[in-house]
Amino acid sequence: MIQAPKGTYDVLPREAERRGILEAHVQRIFGGAGYRRIETPAFEATELFARGVGASTDIVQKEMYSFDDGGGRSLTLRPEGTAPICRAYIEHGMHKLPLPVKFWYFGSYFRAEQPQKGRYRQFWQVGAEVIGAGAPETDAEIILLLAELLEAMGVKGTRLRLASLGTPETRVEYRDELTAYLRAHESELSEEVRARIDLNPMRAFDSSDRGTQVVMADAPKLLDRLDPEDAEHFEQVRTLLDVAGIPYEVDPTLVRGLDYYTRTLFEFTSDALGAQSGVGGGGRYDRLIEQLGGQPTPGIGFAAGAERILLAGAEQPIAPDPVDLLVVVANREDRIAGVAGFELAREARRAGLAAQFELSGRSLKGALKHADRIHARYVAIVNDPQSATLKDMESGDQRELETAGVIATILRGSRLA
Ligand code: AMP
Repeated sequence: MIQAPKGTYDVLPREAERRGILEAHVQRIFGGAGYRRIETPAFEATELFARGVGASTDIVQKEMYSFDDGGGRSLTLRPEGTAPICRAYIEHGMHKLPLPVKFWYFGSYFRAEQPQKGRYRQFWQVGAEVIGAGAPETDAEIILLLAELLEAMGVKGTRLRLASLGTPETRVEYRDELTAYLRAHESELSEEVRARIDLNPMRAFDSSDRGTQVVMADAPKLLDRLDPEDAEHFEQVRTLLDVAGIPYEVDPTLVRGLDYYTRTLFEFTSDALGAQSGVGGGGRYDRLIEQLGGQPTPGIGFAAGAERILLAGAEQPIAPDPVDLLVVVANREDRIAGVAGFELAREARRAGLAAQFELSGRSLKGALKHADRIHARYVAIVNDPQSATLKDMESGDQRELETAGVIATILRGSRLA
């Protein structure tokens, strides 16, 4: 028995419908605010992520599906969407467009993680990016739109955490300060954190180790070291969120597993989820485009996990697809009647009806039962090429008609008795 690979799952039709609802909300909320859809390839040059996401991040170090393309070039299944979109922005010379450019996306991403509930190796993200706008209103807008999306999906128990990372320069200074602090407390830290003091000291804030957490409670905080302009930017983002009535907690220990962030950083979690409580997060990346070879351009974005939105979201009532007409051929041996029935279903669809042709080879009785099951409004039983019995499944009324008259009769909604 061949099964789906570990950490992957099938989107069966019912789930596909819930995803369809999510996508429709994204389209409505983000489309309504002037964001347009973008999709990039499922794989990219490995270097894009090494440079874009950061060589020292968990994603790049441990979680990428990389492979040789056969020509000695390393490709990687995309673990995230921002670096690819910035690559596309540069590649297509979008700086010539009226700025900012605003995108949304909805696609699948790949990370070699240990699977558990809410964590998969292939997962879906909805996200948005605004490239070419640095004003704090942009930050607040994107947070606001994500909050709106989570609300529309009925995601329960959401909490928003907010921080600012300042500029890379501030961070370098701060990093030295933090590294020195960690060194001074080395013996109290977990082995994993100790091993990464130089590589990525910020991740110490993320540690689940008790001893490390105690040390980190008194560690110097980046928020207290921000440049005046960065502090002002952050203040304005907070004011805008306050005015919009979006509750948040400022969390100076907020870190995210990607290196490209500057200034605003945010994350929504949901209490309705278990250990994997992150629903979606993002931040500003004012240096990323330049880092990838473009002109200095500010940007901000977020990504949210579709599975987690659906896990923490309300069950949305899903109406079954309507079926106006089921066409059944009375005598399957009659190939000419078969053609007439097939044509009838096709013509009905062209006339705008939701029409299905009975494909299963069921008996007439079985076909009528099936019509009930799929809530078909009418069944047309094609008796011979010229004539059909049209049955109204609700009233049970039926009438013999010329095959050619079936569609008009349905469209008129005439009584059949
Ligand atoms: P990140 O790009 O790591 O900030 O992830 C953004 C969001 O994507 C997270 O908040 C999750 O909702 C979702 N996500 C990230 N990794 C996974 C995964 N392995 N499986 C399912 N969802 C994920």
